[in-house]
Amino acid sequence: MDFQILDGKLISKQIKDEIAEEVSQMIKRGQKQPHLSAILVGNDGASETYVAHKVKACEQVGFKSSLIRLEDTVSEEALIKEIEKLNKNNDVNGFIVQLPLPNYISEDKIIESIDPKKDVDGFHPVNVGRMTIGLPAFVSATPQGILDLMNRYKIETSGKHCVIIGRSNIVGKPLSILLSQKSDIGNATVTLCHSRTQNLKEITKQADILIAAIGVKEFVTKDMVKPGAVIIDVGIHRVKSDQTKSGWKLKGDVKFDEVAPLCSYITPVPGGVGPMTIVSLIKNTLAAAKKEVY
Ligand code: NAD
Repeated sequence: MDFQILDGKLISKQIKDEIAEEVSQMIKRGQKQPHLSAILVGNDGASETYVAHKVKACEQVGFKSSLIRLEDTVSEEALIKEIEKLNKNNDVNGFIVQLPLPNYISEDKIIESIDPKKDVDGFHPVNVGRMTIGLPAFVSATPQGILDLMNRYKIETSGKHCVIIGRSNIVGKPLSILLSQKSDIGNATVTLCHSRTQNLKEITKQADILIAAIGVKEFVTKDMVKPGAVIIDVGIHRVKSDQTKSGWKLKGDVKFDEVAPLCSYITPVPGGVGPMTIVSLIKNTLAAAKKEVY
């Protein structure tokens, strides 16, 4: 079967170009440049990379960005103080605290200390609650990016059986809500699978749209997939490789080479969900600057 790549790199570039155009119009009208701020605790390699990509995306669309670096020994109290400064800073439209945080810091407490109006990651309970009942909200970037990607390729979700593997607060759970909601990019019948799901393969084989957000390298194999399915691979795994200059290669939660020939559409890793996630954060920041949500 001929499959089509869901090209997140291409679509994210299109969306960034659209946003850059809008920002240049805003500036011509004398409006302020949108400003995204990020707090990075410690020097975790993956977090450094993600934050660097976010800062670069800000430059590409004409946003102002600022990065606040804190030692990985910072106290919870000191981190909350930094957050409160950003909550009050009128120049900052939205900000993120890059996760994960050191174990001794409560992520829940940190997320709850962010002003929901500036929570462009969409992790605050107020935004999650508003999203759940269909009110305007900042929606978590990865789920929003996946929906935008499918939407740009005109993939029908209405009435389809969508199976999601993984129930994390930032990907699987919000996706299950958004896809089942009564909306143009929802109306799907959703099954949310997780580590306690029995007969996983029997369920995934029924999926018209299969979304893998498990965090296990190449977990989804060809025997788990219905021919013609749409496959969305959220996983990111860095593996050693002697075929690349950097010595590293990225793999997903799906065994791409054997699954791709079976499906109608599939996201690659890299170049699928990752770039869409970053562009969603940029979209949320623009919405914050334009006061579209609150
Ligand atoms: P997580 O790691 O917090 O949780 C994994 C989920 O998978 C859990 O809900 C668990 O129940 C489920 N799971 C684990 N083993 C399972 C099994 N054997 N069978 C069925 N379910 C199982 O999830 P996350 O934070 O959503 O991350 C998932 C993956 O996506 C990771 O590889 C992460 O790096 C990646 N990720 C990518 C992006 C992106 O922008 N592309 C964004 C966020 C996360």
